[in-house]
Amino acid sequence: MTIDAPTPLSLPALHASHSGNWLRSPGGETGAVSKGDAIMAAADTPVLILNAPLVANRLGYPDLSGLDLLELFAFVHPARFCVPTPRGLAQALEIEEPAADEDVPAFLQTAGAALIAACEDPEWFEREGAWSVLQSLERLRWQWAGVIKPHIARPQKAEKWLFAKLPEWEEAGERAPPRQVDLPPEAVLQQLDQLTGEGSEKREGQQAYAKDAARIFSPRDKREVPHLALAQAGTGIGKTLGYLAPASLWAGAAGGTVWVSTFTKNLQRQLRSESRRAWPAKRPDGTPPVVVRKGRENYLCLLNLEDALQGGFSGRPAILAQLVGRWAAFSQDGDMIGGDLPGWLGTLFRKRGIAALTDQRGECVYAGCPHYRKCFIERASRNSAQADLVIANHALVMVNAARGRDHAMRPTRIVFDEGHHVFEAADSTFAAVLSGQEAIELRRWILGPERKNRGRRRGLSARLADIASYDDEGGIAIEDAVEAATLLPADGWLQRLNESEPAGPLEALLAQVRSATYARDESGGVDAGYGIETEASGLPGELIEAAGIAGEALANIRTPLIKLGTRLEAIMADPPDWLDGQGRQRIEGARFSLSWRIDLLGAWAALLERLGGPADPEFVDWLSVERSDAREFDIGIHRRWLDPMKPFAKTVLEPAHGVMLTSATLTDRVGEEASETEAWAPAIARSGAEYIESEPLMSAATSPFDYANRAEVLIVTDIKKGDLPGLAGAYSKLIEASDGGVLGLFTAIRRMRAVHGRIADRLARAGLPIYAQHVDPIDTGTLVDIFRDDPRASLLGTDALRDGVDVPGRSLRCVVMEQVPWPRPDILHKARRAAGQGSKYDDRIIRARLAQAFGRLIRGKDDAGHFVVLSAAFPSRLLSAFPEGTPVTRLTLDEALERIKAGAPSGDTASEAVPSPAPDGIGDDYIPFG
Ligand code: SF4
Repeated sequence: MTIDAPTPLSLPALHASHSGNWLRSPGGETGAVSKGDAIMAAADTPVLILNAPLVANRLGYPDLSGLDLLELFAFVHPARFCVPTPRGLAQALEIEEPAADEDVPAFLQTAGAALIAACEDPEWFEREGAWSVLQSLERLRWQWAGVIKPHIARPQKAEKWLFAKLPEWEEAGERAPPRQVDLPPEAVLQQLDQLTGEGSEKREGQQAYAKDAARIFSPRDKREVPHLALAQAGTGIGKTLGYLAPASLWAGAAGGTVWVSTFTKNLQRQLRSESRRAWPAKRPDGTPPVVVRKGRENYLCLLNLEDALQGGFSGRPAILAQLVGRWAAFSQDGDMIGGDLPGWLGTLFRKRGIAALTDQRGECVYAGCPHYRKCFIERASRNSAQADLVIANHALVMVNAARGRDHAMRPTRIVFDEGHHVFEAADSTFAAVLSGQEAIELRRWILGPERKNRGRRRGLSARLADIASYDDEGGIAIEDAVEAATLLPADGWLQRLNESEPAGPLEALLAQVRSATYARDESGGVDAGYGIETEASGLPGELIEAAGIAGEALANIRTPLIKLGTRLEAIMADPPDWLDGQGRQRIEGARFSLSWRIDLLGAWAALLERLGGPADPEFVDWLSVERSDAREFDIGIHRRWLDPMKPFAKTVLEPAHGVMLTSATLTDRVGEEASETEAWAPAIARSGAEYIESEPLMSAATSPFDYANRAEVLIVTDIKKGDLPGLAGAYSKLIEASDGGVLGLFTAIRRMRAVHGRIADRLARAGLPIYAQHVDPIDTGTLVDIFRDDPRASLLGTDALRDGVDVPGRSLRCVVMEQVPWPRPDILHKARRAAGQGSKYDDRIIRARLAQAFGRLIRGKDDAGHFVVLSAAFPSRLLSAFPEGTPVTRLTLDEALERIKAGAPSGDTASEAVPSPAPDGIGDDYIPFG
């Protein structure tokens, strides 16, 4: 529904897209203009624009600014969703969308007027606080301030300061351990019926899946051996409600908390909405039974915000802080990354504005913070301790299990949805990296920020000043740690390394790492400008010597930190009279952050010790120089577990009582002749089962979708590898043939950029806009929102889009992969390949990637489309990656274009079809746990 449009604003308006640039005068005349004229117009007078960084990118003029309607939207409707395109803004404001690019400037004038009209509406929902924030924005010379000031009435009563009006969380008593209950299958089915709704279609696969999922909630038989289940669940079987049914039943009967962990934010959003079927938004006592938990770096830190509002930020970042302050008053949970703060807001202000408002470096002062009782992070943490369902992500579940502040709050019943990502999440969670960036973070945590005017972030001595003056030994330990930390890398370290003037033992070591990595680089310039690495073996004597000296410097920091930890423990054991409850909580917080840093320093020491000695077969170590577009941004030494499921089993599985890993691509579709054991082997290996001596329960449910008739795999055989013009031409023609709606997947960013650069303008002129990761200054989540919203748009991207995109319906009707997704042969991959059956290991990875990418195509039973791989030599052994029965055709590009132009696949023209993968295996409708 659209509402009557208000009288357009009489301000000039500018729109720039890949197909051209249009300028509209205040009087209402629109004309096409050159890039140069568009830039001149924007420089002369403030013009209305939508998404300034994107317009600047299109015009090739980074300093462009103007009256950005997205900023106005964020002020008028904070915490409201809006896709940052003309069409998206029109939908959010319920006004008519522009029909073509040349109509956009007129639309911008109307949209601006609609937003201003909202401010005059007596029913304006977000009025509270607007007038006060506007006064501050006017002082900061926000371009919109003068325009909207006459339209926002001064409130009769003074408005409350944000920090006074946010609600406080309540402390709740410790929750009793869950009761030991068994879930009868009939009760699980009844619960499932209730969740799916009266009269809904009964799906056998989903029912059997729910009954099997219930088994992880049974009382544990053996200490340190949880019930472990692996459940392959084809797309569309309804797995979310399949596991929420037993989870909600158990949470109610046992009085415990179930954690559901996802890899993507999309699934978190979906889970939040599906959980409404099982739980109300609030319990009678006002507490939420379902809580979304993320890492603390996702949430707004009120102390940092207060700092920013009171002069800690200046210029554009200060304007961002005011808009974030508006949002904080209306936000559901203070989640800045993927929550209700628009993902595009941060990119409008460039630099690291959003990150500076979160608690990135663990400088939280806990109960010492004046906003502690209103803190979003503390609220989420307390709510989750009392919740029935916690929706989290893999990394957070692992970090919480490894170093959660409170044992009682560690997860014991966990469903890892998107379970095929558990391995890589464990891989990064249990990794150790000693790099310049990491070391500088530690330095800041101990010493505080280096430059003045960096807000209230404080070093260790300031955070624990009262302890230092009360406890002599503690005070000395702090002084020693502070002194030793001055030898860590400081601001400007990369430049000093470039000028061969490293300062201190750590910078000296990094200089050696850099020179050894370059000296041994064998990439031959293939990856010029991107990261390089070398194995941590046979290293030069100077580097080993530098590692020894750096190791001593790190030990000099670690020793006083350990001492400080024991002093804090002693103070807690025999607290002084002046130490009140809040003080105790603050010390608890400090102990927690200390132990994390002590462990980190221990891991770095182990890494350095190994450099001169024999390799540890459990780990893979290497040196690296990280670069982007030929610019170095970090240098370091890395350590990964050869099998990260070993620490995963110890920290996550052993303490748990029930764990399920579930996904549509858990098993390997090895091929017709393979056994069920082979199909399940990678899933078992990647579950950690072998380290806890557990026989996992396994089940599989096939997707109900009709792949044979709704999808078609086209393998295009006449685009040669390395032929960039040919590749770009193929993408362009495929997008035209499909009339947009293409998701283009690349394995290398530079090829994606090159293809985008060659085709974007021409296609945009034909009304087929293309967006691209790493090209458009827009975060990935927003790019997907834009793609979903416009059925003629196409989206190009890399790994994150391969299985993070959930776009059902017509907006996504064709997936194009530029080539077979071979794994990058880096040092870590080579080590794991050698330990994992060589080329079979590679094949497994490729099949998994193909299956994930294919999974983007058919999201609902009415979806249909083509999956295109541009590969002259696609090995037949990889075809089993696609669902059984999917037609596969090898053909030329011209033939593929004909197929796509003809519309949705009909299923009767393929030269091959994907065979059944395994006898009596996962191709059956449902294989219950064995
Ligand atoms: S308690 Fe910590 S995270 Fe929360 S607002 Fe205060 S300093 Fe920030």
